[in-house]
Amino acid sequence: KQQKAQSEKVYDTQCPYCSMQCKMQLIEQKIVSRKQYKTIGKDNPTSGGRLCVKGMNAHQHALHNERLKQPLMRINNEFVPVTWEVALETIKTNFQEIQKNHGNNALSVYGSASITNEEAYLLGKFARVALQTKYIDYNGRLCMASAATGANMTFGMDRGFTNTINEIPNTRVIILAGTNIAECQPTIMPYFEKAKENGAYIIAIDPRETSTTKLADMHLKIKPGSDIALANGLLKIMIEKELIDTAFIMKHTNHFDEVKNYVLSLNLDEIVSETGITMEEFYQSATVFASEPSGMIFTARGIEQQINGTETVRAFLNLLLATGKIGKPNSGFGAITGQGNGQGAREHGQKADQLPGYRSIENKVDRKYIADVWEIKEEDLPDKGVSAYEMFEHIEKGDIKSMFIMCSNPVISNPNANFVKKALEKLSFLVVVDLFLSETAQLADIVLPATSYLEDEGTFTNVEGRVMLREASFPIQGNAKHDWQILSEVATRLGKEKYFTYGSAEEIFEELRVASRGGKADYYGITYDRLRKESGVLWPCPSPDTPGTNRLFEKRFAHEDGKAKMAVVKNESGERKPKINSQYPLYLTTGRVMSHYLTGEQTRKSPSLAARNVEAYIEIHPETAKKYGIKQNKLVKVTSEKGWIIVRSQFSEAIRKDTIFIPFHWTEKQNVNRLVGDQLDPFCRMPGFKMSVARVSPITN
Ligand code: SF4
Repeated sequence: KQQKAQSEKVYDTQCPYCSMQCKMQLIEQKIVSRKQYKTIGKDNPTSGGRLCVKGMNAHQHALHNERLKQPLMRINNEFVPVTWEVALETIKTNFQEIQKNHGNNALSVYGSASITNEEAYLLGKFARVALQTKYIDYNGRLCMASAATGANMTFGMDRGFTNTINEIPNTRVIILAGTNIAECQPTIMPYFEKAKENGAYIIAIDPRETSTTKLADMHLKIKPGSDIALANGLLKIMIEKELIDTAFIMKHTNHFDEVKNYVLSLNLDEIVSETGITMEEFYQSATVFASEPSGMIFTARGIEQQINGTETVRAFLNLLLATGKIGKPNSGFGAITGQGNGQGAREHGQKADQLPGYRSIENKVDRKYIADVWEIKEEDLPDKGVSAYEMFEHIEKGDIKSMFIMCSNPVISNPNANFVKKALEKLSFLVVVDLFLSETAQLADIVLPATSYLEDEGTFTNVEGRVMLREASFPIQGNAKHDWQILSEVATRLGKEKYFTYGSAEEIFEELRVASRGGKADYYGITYDRLRKESGVLWPCPSPDTPGTNRLFEKRFAHEDGKAKMAVVKNESGERKPKINSQYPLYLTTGRVMSHYLTGEQTRKSPSLAARNVEAYIEIHPETAKKYGIKQNKLVKVTSEKGWIIVRSQFSEAIRKDTIFIPFHWTEKQNVNRLVGDQLDPFCRMPGFKMSVARVSPITN
């Protein structure tokens, strides 16, 4: 029998997980001396009050009794709780010692796309002003870098969605390229379902059948890694059938003739065999996409997390430009971000090559502008550093001696994960800021307890580019501190207090506004007051009296001449990709399940979510399993050049016979990233998570 609550408190918040950033409320009910909690959705323009199972159970990790509530220090190889005073002094002493003996660039910073815009901004400033190191990068390098670089190269700027989400239901044709939104961003699905109801034709590209491909009118079950050939084949047909928009191409793009000459030189029969897509499927998809008056292309990690991910994205953008389906109502591009602040976290300067406002660290004018905002000399701003994975290579080489990791679990999330763990073990001094003693935190010398999404105010920029304010009124757990407070306090210990005098997240946002002013990601017109009144504002928003930008590129693209740059993307650009061979005869691809987020550090703490997927698994076609002597629901050893793991078999006819799939939310011997290689995209330095080669064998006892 349910007891009636004696009192109830409601806390407004925002989901800490995916890029939809659904608004929600935590309901705290007091019954006798006990408190119980539940999370419900709250209406807003993006998610409309919907939540998926992750959001509904998010409070379970935030209120978990394993939350860190006190700084920890490693003493005689054991973690001992210490005061903030001791922890901060230890950090100061070690950082200064390392700087004195090895120089500023012996320190490094590893950030996150799950932190607020204010924290992402401050982390970049912390690295460059407080530590004066060039080595800073973040985990978004592993997931959004190729889409961002592809869009920057083609359009001249990178906002993940060129249109608002509300335009999706009215478009006539949709390509979903390598995205499983039904599992990864479930509350966006109704927009696509509505489009389908309204008659849109949906083409899904994925080597597996998923809950998302089930919505499609056509599922192109592609051979992993052949996406460029697919896009080029589609473009060839569109050109040959004269289905392209010549007037748009002439007025708004450059380099079309080179692209045309290249794709017309391709042999479609060869492309059919390279991709595994039939000629009929090619003609049907190309004809429908080009003929409809409006259309959208959405990409995600399936095509982006390749060692030629940037070029792959650009090949798909060629299709939009050639058919004139951008800068118009119900036509455009969307790179579906994974992490909660996948968009905002890549705009404010925690990337190796970037300063706030999407400014370039290599551009003299940009450097001067930010140096002035920070009140430092331009020559004191460090140079460009290296990408996330490459920082671990620099540790291995001995250049980097210490790392400060905020809200990230790189030991699990990076490719070649065994190597990354060894690299971190080699550091002289490691500081980790987190909610829990994550697998990475377990290697640290100092672990600092951070506040959770319930306690931490700040802005996030969602999948559309809509800046949203997450309120936070829930009491801070134990002695945890906000990330921005931790950064300010470490900076103060290092004698840089005059640059870090913030009293609230809003004060940091005020500085961020100025730092972004005139940059490609211009937030100057956005204030906390506006965000409260308007339920979010889409950037660019250059002044407080402009409404924000719902649709990009209506008049011009962001390159100086106003035109988009089409690109010749050669089918052979994937040459460096691993190829199946007698030793490793299967393609290995990775991805998410609905109940878990990233390395599972938070979602595995939630009993309701953990119970849905208790362990990693290998999805394998029954015929492939039979060939290698693998039985259903049994343990399987999966081996690549980089390592091995053991996971349980799950037969599925939904996957290609030459491909296996393993989700990436688990640790140790279930961590599929131990198998992924370390080759990086030459343009954006993103690893190729979505295509490795491997072999499988049964565990017999
Ligand atoms: Fe919404 Fe994403 Fe959170 Fe699910 S995980 S509730 S879709 S923000």
